[in-house]
Amino acid sequence: MTNDPVKTVRTTCAYCGVGCGVIATPDGNGGVTVKGDPHHPANLGRLCSKGSQLGQTVSTDGRLLAPRIGDQDTDWDTALSLVAERFKSTIEQHGPDSVALYVSGQLLTEDYYVANKLIKGYMGTANIDTNSRLCMASTVAGHKRAFGTDTVPGNYTDLEQADLIVLVGSNLAWCHPVLYQRISAAKDANQNMRIINVDPRRTATSDLADLHMSIAPGSDVALFNRLLVEIVDRGLVDADYVAQHVNGFDDAVAAAHADVTETLDICDADLMAFLDMWCSTEKVVTVFSQGVNQSTSGADKVNSIINCHLATGRIGRTGMGPFSVTGQPNAMGGREVGGLANMLACHLDIENAEHRNAVRTFWDSPTMPTQAGKKAVDMFDAVADGTIKAIWIMCTNPVVSLPEADKVRQALLDCDFVVVSEMFATTDTAKCADVLLPATGWGEKDGTVTNSDRTVSRQRPFLPKPGMARNDWDIMADVGRRMGWKDAFDYATPEDVFREYAALSGIATKFERDFDISDWTDDYNAMFPRRWGTERFFENGGFYHADKKAKMLPLKSRAPKSAITTDRPFRLNTGRVRDHWHTMTRTARSPRLSQHLAEPFVEIHPDTASRLGIKPAHLVKLTSDHGTAIVRALVTDRVRRREVFVPIHWTGETAPTGRVDALVTGYVDPVSGQPESKASTVAVAPF
Ligand code: SF4
Repeated sequence: MTNDPVKTVRTTCAYCGVGCGVIATPDGNGGVTVKGDPHHPANLGRLCSKGSQLGQTVSTDGRLLAPRIGDQDTDWDTALSLVAERFKSTIEQHGPDSVALYVSGQLLTEDYYVANKLIKGYMGTANIDTNSRLCMASTVAGHKRAFGTDTVPGNYTDLEQADLIVLVGSNLAWCHPVLYQRISAAKDANQNMRIINVDPRRTATSDLADLHMSIAPGSDVALFNRLLVEIVDRGLVDADYVAQHVNGFDDAVAAAHADVTETLDICDADLMAFLDMWCSTEKVVTVFSQGVNQSTSGADKVNSIINCHLATGRIGRTGMGPFSVTGQPNAMGGREVGGLANMLACHLDIENAEHRNAVRTFWDSPTMPTQAGKKAVDMFDAVADGTIKAIWIMCTNPVVSLPEADKVRQALLDCDFVVVSEMFATTDTAKCADVLLPATGWGEKDGTVTNSDRTVSRQRPFLPKPGMARNDWDIMADVGRRMGWKDAFDYATPEDVFREYAALSGIATKFERDFDISDWTDDYNAMFPRRWGTERFFENGGFYHADKKAKMLPLKSRAPKSAITTDRPFRLNTGRVRDHWHTMTRTARSPRLSQHLAEPFVEIHPDTASRLGIKPAHLVKLTSDHGTAIVRALVTDRVRRREVFVPIHWTGETAPTGRVDALVTGYVDPVSGQPESKASTVAVAPF
């Protein structure tokens, strides 16, 4: 390992799942200038507002520079010996399921790999989950149900080559801006390209769309069931593709027919325009994101979209297919490396005995759990009820980002032993830690990430590690050695970790899985962005269920689980703004980014505001069964009358206080475990 700063490096943006390449040139005084990498296939030189201001976020001001036990700085040996001893003694006294790791889609793949090996292969529990559970777990479940594996079939160029792009539950303009820029440029070049935006709320993305279709929250399954019926009625089913490659067609169509009796809260003209465009255009890509995933019927929403593409054979071909965009820079890498509680590395399943035994043999593990661990919301419930007695949280801030966030904070304060690996001691979660471990961040870390179209890129360091900060994989490997597993965690560099992971993926061939990078033997340090698998999957079938066919699922639409009542008459939508990221630990350091939207706010319809006596820019109090937030009124007809929107980023002790996840109910999708972050019910009143 080197701590030496280097000259210009090619690395990858710290933020969203577009995964843009960045050329970073350190100035030798702790600063850096950045520009888009023209040779990176994700962005071809572009950067968005957040990416272009990365240089304003790298100062070491306020960084956690040494390990802390309680309020006292200490050395690594003391801190990690305590962590190892407490996890070991907790497992001995209460069993392996009494401990847990909660990690992040911003960890690098090498970090993720060591975390999974440590807890699943050595501590003996699958209690590891990631904030990606809040982001795209419903897509993972939908992909696995339809394809037999979690595979994104296409790639970014499909979005440029499509004649129709349907953006469902996605504010791409703000959340995946460079991808939006690519689509916008493609639309300028292709006069035939049309765009439909399906979203209850009119967003910046809607401005590019030929049609913005404002649907009721949660009605996506009903919409795509309606489309499936239309596909059948217009004779557009690709009978050969379905006969050769798809199971479940008849049941899915029968269920769709039964579901279209549900009234769609969409104007007839918009619905017919949507159906006409989808049905009359062969090259269709349906892009979906958190508006689909963050729902108690999220997995069904994903499958309702995939059903339509399977029925028409519009999948795996140029400019066609269902396409999930992930929120975080390495959510995809986390999926590949088994970062969720119900997965193993390399798209293998923990509940499959053959898969489990193969990984156990490869790792030479003393133990391996036979069942999935606790998913994010259940994990913190288990902390609250004392079932989990020791938890290690890395690179994420669940006291702000998880549903029922006040309950999460109290659970951590009451927990026997909380370890937090962080760049800053000031996050809401870090304040709950018994042991705080200083971790490296963007510009200091070294490893790989995978973006939304399966392209693996390097993140490279160009700044020295501040104080005593260490890389996450290195900290975890050290704890593994201290717990007695010296050989298993004998890594000196991230390349050592990557080589082991790549070798493990060779198992894919034996089990006929899709993820195999065992032949990636090129120079790790010089590694150029590279897509795993083929350019596209499934044009000619080749699915990963036992009979090699895909599955269409029979689906029935369900309303969001939180009931509208007279006390809680408004549905609360949550999401991102253009210039902030997650809980703002990085983006709030940039004056430029903070200029865009300086305070937490609630979008509220003018008629609703008038009826409630709420004036523009006045403070508004939102109340749910779980908490309150006080935010500034942004009166706009972009939201529907019975819905309000609040961004996810802000926290704070005094008004305005926008810690909106304190209001969100912890209802989850029964298949994916993903929380319904966009449809809780609240009261709204002037403050
Ligand atoms: Fe970074 Fe995403 Fe912006 Fe690209 S689009 S520069 S990955 S935030």
